[in-house]
Amino acid sequence: MESGQLIVITGPSGVGKGTLVKSLLQRHNQLSLSISATTRPPRAGETNGKDYFFLSRPEFEAMIETGDLLEWAEYAGNYYGTPRQGVEDKLQQGEQVILEIEVVGARKIQQSFPQAMRIFIFPPSLTVLEERLQKRGKDDPEIIAQRLDHAKTEIAAADEFDYTIVNDDLDRTLTQLEQIILQPEKS
Ligand code: 5GP
Repeated sequence: MESGQLIVITGPSGVGKGTLVKSLLQRHNQLSLSISATTRPPRAGETNGKDYFFLSRPEFEAMIETGDLLEWAEYAGNYYGTPRQGVEDKLQQGEQVILEIEVVGARKIQQSFPQAMRIFIFPPSLTVLEERLQKRGKDDPEIIAQRLDHAKTEIAAADEFDYTIVNDDLDRTLTQLEQIILQPEKS
């Protein structure tokens, strides 16, 4: 039915998924990004409908009920999920659609879209991850601690994914990602 391709980019919070995806989108206009829904409050500078669709818990739960989410997960006390319609429309138009999501959601995609390409991004180490989470200054210390805790579980699941890349150098990681994503599709 769909002619496009679903690409899942996962890995711990702070590993650089957002920066990598932003660069990919700037460089390759056949790629598009699914905008997620979340109940997390917007951070400074985030815009509704651009960074996320910011929803209340009842609004998010209504989307779960109606099956309007392709996948969803609870992460650090908030819901995050992928609105189904936008992704299906883009796939039907033949686009390569990127989901930048955490591991539980990525696992769910494997069940519903077994043909999706799933890539796990590793931090060089947990120490580097912690430094990055602290340096980006987006979260309070207790949230950072929660995210680091999650990271350990997420890293333990890396083997489940089709490709793994260590993000120790942004340019090199980007090149590796491009090689994976832009390879001709296997028939
Ligand atoms: P943040 O709060 O830092 O924006 O995101 C927290 C985590 O949720 C990140 O690992 C991010 O990739 C993930 N995330 C963002 N959108 C989604 C989504 O739609 N579904 C799932 N399962 N995870 C998401």
